[in-house]
Amino acid sequence: MANISYVDGIYCNNQNAAIHINDRGYHFGDAVYEVILFNNGVFYDYDGHINRLFNSLKSIDIKFHLSQQQLKIIIKNLFKLNRVNFGSIYIQVSRGVADRNHSYFNLNSKPVLTMIISKKKNNIHDYVKGVKAITISDNRWSRPDIKTTQLLPNVMAKTFANKKNAYEGIFIDHEGYVTEGSSSNIWIINNNEEILTREIDGKILSGITRKTITKFAKNNNYKILEKKFTKDEMLEAKEVFLTSASSFVKPIVKIDNVKINNGVIGKNSIELRNLYFQNF
Ligand code: PMP
Repeated sequence: MANISYVDGIYCNNQNAAIHINDRGYHFGDAVYEVILFNNGVFYDYDGHINRLFNSLKSIDIKFHLSQQQLKIIIKNLFKLNRVNFGSIYIQVSRGVADRNHSYFNLNSKPVLTMIISKKKNNIHDYVKGVKAITISDNRWSRPDIKTTQLLPNVMAKTFANKKNAYEGIFIDHEGYVTEGSSSNIWIINNNEEILTREIDGKILSGITRKTITKFAKNNNYKILEKKFTKDEMLEAKEVFLTSASSFVKPIVKIDNVKINNGVIGKNSIELRNLYFQNF
């Protein structure tokens, strides 16, 4: 059961959960968000996600009225009310409700916090399947490092990928370098056994799963380089995988029409995925 959500101070049934038509999140995507996975009462990377939420709020100048401690109480309450073992919590904060006007100069709106829990099948120990991805040129704005709800290019990239029977759309910048997936960070393992993922250079979201995998992998003597790589390097790589809070580590075995590692999942991707779960 997961049917209680939280809207601006009220715990309510999902059918009654509604926001105001003049919410700036609705009009302008003037809102930020986080998704956190939980399993049997454990929130994966809780602090990382909450810290990123507060950084996103700061980046777009939203003066949030709640502290991290107050937010934690609401999350815990919602979690208890829903009695769900495995799933994710979606947290969104918009700038609030105001007459429609692009500018927020001198606006004293109260930010609107909403949260919804989705119940999922626990697939952590399922057999891992390799997925297909397609490449697409990165046509997003110049601040993809901020986790805003303004996601239309990502929405279109994911839809385009799904139409082509692929799981993810991988963005390529104008110089031919891979930025990230429409909702994930991208990694390759090259022929020198180096694991590469793009550095945090403002052109990607600083993935929380990316950060945790980097830490766990380094502790286990993997060679990780935070360095951008080209689409060609990716297509020639021994292994390619993506990371995100909802997909964990997912091996990619085909990109456009090119098979990676002859279409077979690489052992390192699986080892890194296992490391992720062993360490929580
Ligand atoms: N990049 C983008 C564009 C994303 O939407 C996501 C998922 N939120 C990620 C990377 C991965 O971030 P995380 O590991 O924090 O889920």
